[in-house]
Amino acid sequence: EVQVSGLHKKFGDVTVLNDINFTIREGEFFTLLGPSGCGKSTTLNCIAGLESPTAGSITVDGVPFVDTAKKLYVPTEERNLGMVFQSYALWPHMTVEANLVMPLAIRKVSKEEKAVRIHEALDTVGLAHLKDRYPHQLSGGQQQRVALARALVYSPSVLLLDEPLSNLDAKLREQSRAWLKRLQVELGITTVYVTHDQDEALSLSDRIAVMFEGNMTQIGAPAEIYERPATAAVAAFVGSCN
Ligand code: ATP
Ligand code: MG
Repeated sequence: EVQVSGLHKKFGDVTVLNDINFTIREGEFFTLLGPSGCGKSTTLNCIAGLESPTAGSITVDGVPFVDTAKKLYVPTEERNLGMVFQSYALWPHMTVEANLVMPLAIRKVSKEEKAVRIHEALDTVGLAHLKDRYPHQLSGGQQQRVALARALVYSPSVLLLDEPLSNLDAKLREQSRAWLKRLQVELGITTVYVTHDQDEALSLSDRIAVMFEGNMTQIGAPAEIYERPATAAVAAFVGSCN
């Protein structure tokens, strides 16, 4: 469970998050949806510990990660989160296997356990047979799956995905979408997904949070958002591709 309460973020004098509140249930696929610049990545980065909020608190599975009122801040490497960003950012000079060793190296896991975890993570994304390849020897979709395997390798409590499919062509994106959803359901892992693509949000999510200009405008199941948009802006944004 992820609880975000009273989240504010300013960059200088500019407010980019204005009192964001939401709770993500255990195992839920929760999507932050909204136009470019509305504050989706900033919200995700606050959960990840890559940005610190100006005000507010974030609690994951009962553990406070940040609470500005209490001056509490848990550094990102202690948050046990899996992250995949728009650019998969695999290390180009390392094999698939070596890319997966890195997050474990930081975490002081025994050699045997490392090997088991890496095999399991690659198996989960169906790429165990490609562990000795280098990133440039993989397709975009395969690279994206390696990035996911890397995010999963230390069994994170929550998976944070920031537009992980946006570098793929339309067909591969569609395939990856289905595959990602299946993986999330199988693993039952709480997932926070960021996208500006309404089709993607509607097809993947258990619930969607729609954001505009730093405000959370509506939170609901896809059908609810689509059929009963809270504002004209939500209606226009969610309906515009259909
Ligand atoms: P996109 O869909 O384009 O990725 P987004 O919803 O993820 O957009 P954010 O990256 O959260 O948007 O940015 C929200 C606002 O904050 C934008 O106006 C952006 O320019 C601004 N912003 C983000 N990071 C910084 C920063 N480090 N310094 C100053 N302004 C920033
Ligand atoms: Mg973004």
